Amino acid sequence: MTVKVAVHGYGTIGKRVADAVTRQSDMKLVGVAKTRPSHEARSALAKGYKLFLAGAGQRDAFDRAGIPLAGTAAEMIREADVVIDCAPDKVGRENARLYQEAKVAAIFQGGEKADIAEVSFSALANFEAARGKRTVRVVSCNTTGIARAAAVLEPAFGVAHWEATIVRRGADPAESHKGPINGILPTFKLPSHHGPDVKSIFPSLPITTIAMVVPTTLMHVHVNHVKLTRAPASASEVLERFRKTPRFHLFREWEGVEGTPQVMEFARDRGGPGRSDMMENALWENGLRLDGPDLYFFQAIHQESIVVPENIDAIRATMNLAPDAATSIAQTDRSLGIPAPE
Ligand code: NAD
Repeated sequence: MTVKVAVHGYGTIGKRVADAVTRQSDMKLVGVAKTRPSHEARSALAKGYKLFLAGAGQRDAFDRAGIPLAGTAAEMIREADVVIDCAPDKVGRENARLYQEAKVAAIFQGGEKADIAEVSFSALANFEAARGKRTVRVVSCNTTGIARAAAVLEPAFGVAHWEATIVRRGADPAESHKGPINGILPTFKLPSHHGPDVKSIFPSLPITTIAMVVPTTLMHVHVNHVKLTRAPASASEVLERFRKTPRFHLFREWEGVEGTPQVMEFARDRGGPGRSDMMENALWENGLRLDGPDLYFFQAIHQESIVVPENIDAIRATMNLAPDAATSIAQTDRSLGIPAPE
């Protein structure tokens, strides 16, 4: 069975999700919708994607730029079995009406509140909860990173208490209108919204988060302190759990990966079908320490891409395309060049 997928919103996340959809043997990209002509619209056409007019966009602007449109977003949506809404934060809620009218399944992103969908989703944690649902929300980049780590730690060792400090990037690399950025901005909502958002997937996880924004565009970094209920014998046991789980990449000390610049350099060197993105949680083996039941670890999260494989798995879950999470995750990862666990 081949499922017809439309991507509504073609920015940082939408363009990556559209590329990923074209790499799936069980999916077909109906088209992508944008509000304005831009270099991304030109690239979409060069890739052979049908381009549709989104939101309050002006058809004239596309005509003047010589970018042909295949129709309106409403027309694109009518052709689809499932729409991936990749519109800016909170705009997905306005778009939800279009999906209801067209009676298509819809997958929203983490910039929407949890109540926009029947289920908030992270593939390693709750693939089955999204099976057959008509509306799903793929949680944000930071929440995805924590949910993946929780899907490893909670079943293996139990979590008595988890405190995470989220060090957030100031902007995405292409968002030059937000910069130059020189400052460290505490997030004065205490605790930050990330902890409650993780609970949209793990309702009883005792996690609390605080956040700050720093002048970088590369990645977020999470500083974690987790008190485990069943203390592992050694840090190696914890590392082994992460190493054997899909969508984790562990750097060894001798690799000289001092921080996020080298993580992204690694991803660019790797190349392949994953657009030189880092879709895995990146951990440092020498950045993890166990002290009795107290686990400390850092993880880096590539905000632009971590949710991309999750959107592909969310499509498989809602459309009943895979027998289980492991099969979908393995298929997605193979198609995107994310290595299988060692
Ligand atoms: P973006 O601003 O890069 O792209 C948004 C796109 O939507 C643009 O192409 C814009 O033209 C288009 N658009 C504008 N109005 C629209 C409308 N009414 N209908 C459809 N499309 C419209 O945004 P983004 O960073 O890709 O974020 C999209 C969603 O993904 C948000 O919910 C965001 O919170 C979430 N998200 C973003 C990141 C990130 O780091 N960028 C990470 C994870 C999740």
